[in-house]
Amino acid sequence: MQLYNTLTKRVQPFEPQQDRTVGMYVCGPTVYDHLHIGNVRPVLVFGALRRYLERFKNWRVLYVQNVTDVDDRLIKRSAETGESVAAIAEKYTRAYFDLLQALRVDRPTASPLATDHVREMVDFIALLVQRGHAYVRDGDVYFRVESAKDYGSLSGRRLSEQEAGSRVEISEAKEDPFDFTLWKAAKSGEPSWPSPWGDGRPGWHTECVIMSRKYLGSHLDIHAGGNDLVFPHHENEIAQATAASDEPFFRFWLHNGMLHFGGEEMHKSLGNFRYAYQILEVYDAETVSYFYLSRHYRKPLDFSDEGLRAAQAAVARVRRLIGDVEAELRNRHGNAGSDGGAFSASLQGFRARYVAAMDDDFNTVDAVAVIQDLVSETNRFRETATGEDRLALRDAVLLLRELGGPLGLFESGTSGASSIEAGLLDLLVDLRRELRARKAFDLSDRVRDQLAELGVDLKDTEQGTIWSRRAS
Ligand SMILES: [Zn+2]
Repeated sequence: MQLYNTLTKRVQPFEPQQDRTVGMYVCGPTVYDHLHIGNVRPVLVFGALRRYLERFKNWRVLYVQNVTDVDDRLIKRSAETGESVAAIAEKYTRAYFDLLQALRVDRPTASPLATDHVREMVDFIALLVQRGHAYVRDGDVYFRVESAKDYGSLSGRRLSEQEAGSRVEISEAKEDPFDFTLWKAAKSGEPSWPSPWGDGRPGWHTECVIMSRKYLGSHLDIHAGGNDLVFPHHENEIAQATAASDEPFFRFWLHNGMLHFGGEEMHKSLGNFRYAYQILEVYDAETVSYFYLSRHYRKPLDFSDEGLRAAQAAVARVRRLIGDVEAELRNRHGNAGSDGGAFSASLQGFRARYVAAMDDDFNTVDAVAVIQDLVSETNRFRETATGEDRLALRDAVLLLRELGGPLGLFESGTSGASSIEAGLLDLLVDLRRELRARKAFDLSDRVRDQLAELGVDLKDTEQGTIWSRRAS
């Protein structure tokens, strides 16, 4: 398998360093609010990569994602709402895990909280001070960027080329504008912990260094996140980790592209801001996964309702085939005839194409296209196959489920309430189509009108009828 590595700016062969075990660290949520539709992208992309490595490579994956439960934004939210920082953190941590479940993304192997690791961060920062990589000013501790030998190697930014810009905090206390905070002295009323430099709290960049090493040990294979984290967050992680010890840090750095609305960035002031849970009020989890994974993870993703509706129609097409075949073959057993055997044998070609796509820098765009080609081919076979040959359709359905699995699609045994609801709506849409074909328009209109009363709109498109739930 090959993956694009931001550190080397190249696509490189990837495999785990030891024990057929891949250690993945994906920067997690700062729990002061719900996830929006931009920061749910790494959750879906790297969750899918994890499942692909587990199921198609048979590697064990240790998937660690931190929870940042102390931070300036939490403190600000607490001042605005009067709720304690701890109560806000608990509320949005729970919301985060609920969202993972709703999206059918597997829970991380470990989800360490920053506040549970302050002691270790203090020891680490003390080591940096002792080695001359950090200095203390009025209870704050700063990392001395000048002392890091390869600073800028991840983001491609060199100190000499940089200007003190908006992403760098200017402060007279710092020796250099690019020096960053490792420890922040507490103002009164803020959450704080004791340290050799006085009461305070650790900076965000330090927590990922400490927790990735603690929970992955020597399995430092993949560190991932959105490409807005390349600088300064990931650059500053590498600077600290390599300054504190000669042990190697992560080999592969993977970054997903940002989300746009018709070329514009999402922003509350532009009126295009949406939370991830709001999308799930309208579309089911499979549609959302299909939409996000139908674009290459490194490219920008243009978010649109048309895109989501197209994803919904594409998912429905596959689900319809799976449902029809399973209904037809439920009580039939035995082996397919020779034509069916030939069809079954041809399915391996689709699997090989899918694996080739996924192995090529996790090209889910091509992988999804293979799934749709497989549906077309299977539908062609269905139209002509007769008798025992039709038993071969079961192999196509098994393959569809297998290929969909890493992408969170078409799996059996995951039918929560939402997928039963989705299945019932697909069934009603199918029945309405037949009613219209039989010119029973009074009945087909009744289906449409009564669904509308329940908050479900039907829309007839070239790809067929699609349903959508109106946001409440
Ligand atoms: Zn991080």
